[in-house]
Amino acid sequence: MAGEPQNDCLFCRIVAGEIPATIVRETETTVAFRDINPQAPTHVLVIPKAHYENAAELAAGAPRIAADVLAETKAVADAEGLDSYRLVFNTGSGAGQTVWHAHAHVLGGRGLQWPPG
Ligand code: C5P
Repeated sequence: MAGEPQNDCLFCRIVAGEIPATIVRETETTVAFRDINPQAPTHVLVIPKAHYENAAELAAGAPRIAADVLAETKAVADAEGLDSYRLVFNTGSGAGQTVWHAHAHVLGGRGLQWPPG
């Protein structure tokens, strides 16, 4: 069921504490942790604790939690001292999504090119 933890989901297992992660912030509905393969000096993932496949499913199924995720990206940026940063929600395999639990990438600490690849 949408929102319920999935045993085979890596990020649900991070939420449950079954897989280690470097957690930088946690709220009632979200967790933020450092990406294991950072693409910038700051590369933090903000995820909802509830399982939704991607940002589209989260926005449709739990818009208040989607707003919590967005608010947490700002909290992460503030905590990291970033005044410029990029938010990325890869949504679908064609866009590079590899983990099927919604997540926002918060990238900063270096100059970022546009357009992205
Ligand atoms: O947007 P996409 O689905 O490709 O992003 C998944 C991200 O999850 C990757 O940047 C990957 O490095 C990260 N990851 C992680 N910890 C894991 C597995 C993946 O931070 N244990």
